[in-house]
Amino acid sequence: MPSSSVNYLESRHDWTRQQVLALFAMPFNDLLFTAQQVHRSHFDANRVQVSTLCSIKTGACPEDCAYCPQSARYDTGLEREKLMKVEKVLEEARAAKAGGATRFCMGAAWRSPKKKDMPYVTQMVREVKALGLETCMTLGMLNDDQAKELADAGLDYYNHNLDTSPEYYGEIITTRTYQDRLETLDSVRAAGMKVCAGGIIGMGEGEKDRAGLLMQLANLPEHPESVPINMLVKVAGTPLEEEKDLDPFEFIRCIAVARIMMPKSHVRLSAGREAMSDEMQSLAFLAGANSIFYGEKLLTTGNPEANKDMQLFQRLGIKPEEYQQYADETEMEAELSSRIAEQQNDPFFYDAAK
Ligand code: SF4
Repeated sequence: MPSSSVNYLESRHDWTRQQVLALFAMPFNDLLFTAQQVHRSHFDANRVQVSTLCSIKTGACPEDCAYCPQSARYDTGLEREKLMKVEKVLEEARAAKAGGATRFCMGAAWRSPKKKDMPYVTQMVREVKALGLETCMTLGMLNDDQAKELADAGLDYYNHNLDTSPEYYGEIITTRTYQDRLETLDSVRAAGMKVCAGGIIGMGEGEKDRAGLLMQLANLPEHPESVPINMLVKVAGTPLEEEKDLDPFEFIRCIAVARIMMPKSHVRLSAGREAMSDEMQSLAFLAGANSIFYGEKLLTTGNPEANKDMQLFQRLGIKPEEYQQYADETEMEAELSSRIAEQQNDPFFYDAAK
């Protein structure tokens, strides 16, 4: 470990900005090495979880997120679509399962779901789950009652991103506050669902904002189980269309720091993967990313074809993580420990605890 005073293998919720900036400032190879050590002490390093995303209601969103083609405020030429019929969602879910996905994420471009929408979305959850898929939804802000309704229907994960640091947030969104977002995450937790929360890199923010975003996520009372790290997709017509390109190494650094700060979370490569070379994606896996969105579309922006992803997995010796329903956390930990123990016979295994 590069620093003798910090035990990076432990889960913590008290990160200071100085500590996070110190991680960002590490030499690239040291940072990746540390991240990989942390990764191997909690995960099978050659497994990646695969999710598929389906836009169940597209466009015409009243919010003003500066990166988003779905905002009604920007003319991006995006075709609006009403809430998808349950049968159509199930068709997409079956195809996702056949393509190897274990989690099906359903996204609607809403400020928050309306009362009349809830029976439809809860039916979607029940029926997609019955196909043997994990379910995730992203429907905007939720209050406690809505979160409970979704949890009662069996929803496994709820996605609600913080997007960026509290300090930079006002440059990106003005129609809802950072506090609104944190309250939605609280409601999701209180209802007993797993949290999927991350952000977007490359929106003109500085390193201190990336550190601020990761601090917010890692200092939550519980780390989000899933942490999507998106790379900005510059969509013509949005205020960020002319944003300058992000240095790919800055993106990889962010993945590595997220892995170190939230050692047991799945860190997900999400939007922006289409612009990444195979080499950049493999560096992201080395930095500790262990989840991807797979399929032809990522909500409304392109995503590399599913087939290409599986070819890359093959070239890297990566296997998709299987979906298993565990009786409880103890059973899940036991399964992971046995996978990690198996790895110890591998000539490349590095025991980070020694
Ligand atoms: S990111 Fe979500 S809330 Fe923001 S404009 Fe897009 S669809 Fe609406």
